[in-house]
Order: sequence, then structure tokens, then C-alpha cells
Amino acid sequence: MTPNKEERLGNIIDGKFLAEKKREEISQQAGAFLKKYGRQPGLAVVLVGQDPASAIYVRNKKRACEQTGIASFDYHLDETVSQQEILSLIDDLNARAEVDGILVQLPLPSHLVEEEILVRIDPGKDVDGFHPYNLGRLLMGEPTLVPCTPTGIMYMLDEYGVDIDGKDAIIIGRSNIVGKPMAILLMMRHATITICHSHTKDLPERVRSADIVVAATGRPHMVKGDWIKDGAVVIDVGISRTDAGLVGDVEFEEAKKHARLITPVPGGVGPMTITMLLDNTLLAARTHVS
Ligand code: NAD
Repeated sequence: MTPNKEERLGNIIDGKFLAEKKREEISQQAGAFLKKYGRQPGLAVVLVGQDPASAIYVRNKKRACEQTGIASFDYHLDETVSQQEILSLIDDLNARAEVDGILVQLPLPSHLVEEEILVRIDPGKDVDGFHPYNLGRLLMGEPTLVPCTPTGIMYMLDEYGVDIDGKDAIIIGRSNIVGKPMAILLMMRHATITICHSHTKDLPERVRSADIVVAATGRPHMVKGDWIKDGAVVIDVGISRTDAGLVGDVEFEEAKKHARLITPVPGGVGPMTITMLLDNTLLAARTHVS
């Protein structure tokens, strides 16, 4: 529980503060790992091409690694790299003992077959948790490396003492990286789940009855503030660049009046995602030395 932050920010969940707190823990654990095994946990990040948003994400990941004592190995490949070349790089990284985690920054240029590349990553080094083996384990209730955004959200809910057991949770968005794993994690903690998507009918009515709302659509302000039930917990995953700056999926100002707790955009879910990537790298490193 983080009452000091709740007091300061009212009902706004402080993702930056939680991310810092978790990074301090990771930093201590990475230091202990170095002491015990004579090396840092290592993360390889593969970036293809010049997409500016991807370059920013990769830079932030590198900085976060430096901050927490995780070694980062960067591979910036030309836009024209072939499928075979990138698969060979993955094979090489799979074999290298100092690399505990491999992350391929998405999206990839359209000539590359994303699925084949992600499946080539050793599941034990799949720190994004996107490999079918890891998603399958999650589905069976035996999670190992779990996608970072949903695990970050679970961490936030726990830190703010949100009771999940028996609650009605609605997840808007059904992607493999956010919506589906989020639903499974909440179900594992005994919430009753509704997954909504672009074909869902009566979305406002469904949101109105939910105790926990997770919005992950990438549609700016599509969840209206007056849909939020009084006392609900609202997690806004969406990030959209608009003329007014970065905005989430939820109409924040109005929703804040109804929610017991709500995440802002930016400063909510975003900082937790990279943090959980570091945590997954540490987790993978521990399994590699055991
Ligand atoms: P995606 O495009 O893969 O999936 C979007 C989902 O939203 C789809 O399942 C679609 O059916 C649903 N959807 C779209 N319009 C809808 C509507 N009108 N009503 C109901 N459902 C609708 O997206 P994603 O990769 O899951 O990402 C979603 C958003 O979250 C994006 O804005 C992305 O940038 C953001 N994101 C943020 C973080 C973070 O760390 N904060 C991490 C991952 C994704």
C-alpha cells in the first residue's frame, strides 16, 4: 500500500512512483546477482529500421537497464535486413550465455515475418512473454515470462491494495500483448472477466457495471467518464499522440470524478511496462544460473 502517494495525488495512481520503487528493488537484486554469479543479468534489444517511436522506446529501455544494473546489448539493424539475417542473429543471441533476455522491438518492417521471428526466440529468453510457449503456460495457469504491461498493471493494483477476488473486471481490447494476458491474470486472481472489442455491443452498459476497468484500445477518450461506476478502479493503457499531447483511452477528467482509483496518461501504466521488462530479465537470468 502506498498511502503517502494516495494522499498526495488523491485518487490518481502514481505509475512513476511505483516504477521507481520497483526499479530500486530490481537494482538491489541485480547487484546481488552480479555478486553471486560474477556477471550482470543481460538484455539484448533488436531494433530494425528508423521508426522514431521505436527508437525512443529502445533508448528508454537502455537507460532503464543502466539505471538498474542490467547489461544491455543493442543491435540496430538496417531497414533492409533479410528475414534470414535476423533469424541468424536470434540464434546467436539464444546461444550466448550472457544474454538472458531477447527483445525484438515491434513493429517490424513489412517484409519481415514477425511471427517466425518471435517464435525463434528461446522461450526462456522471451522477456516480452510473446512466445506461444509462454502464452500457453499463462493460459494453463502456470505463468513464467508474462507480457510486461499486464504484469505491471497487476503490480499497481496490488500496491494500491485493490481487492480483485470476486470483482467484475472489464477489459476493452483483445490484443495478445495486453487484453488477452490481462484477462487471464485477473481471472487467475478470481475476478469475473468480460473482454470487449471493436464488435462488442452495449459497451457503455458493460463498463457501467464493472468494478475494474482496463482500457487498451488506442482510441483516444473512447471510454466516456460518465460510464465509470462510482468507486470503480480504472486502468488506462492506451497511448495516443494528439494535438493536445499524449492521451489515453479514457476521458480522464470526468472519469476521475467517479473512480476510486485511476491511472493518468502519461505517468500511469507506461513507466511500469519497461520496469517489468527488467524484472522479467532478472527472472530469466535466475533460471539460467539455477
Ligand atoms: P491493438 O491495436 O493490438 O488492439 C486494440 C484493441 O482494441 C483491439 O482488440 C480492438 O478490438 C479494440 N478496439 C478498438 N476500437 C475499439 C472500440 N471502439 N471499442 C472497443 N474495442 C475497440 O492494441 P494494443 O497493442 O493492445 O495497444 C492498445 C493501446 O495500448 C495502444 O494505444 C498502445 O499504444 C497502448 N499500449 C500501451 C502500453 C503501455 O506501456 N502503456 C503497452 C502496450 C500498449
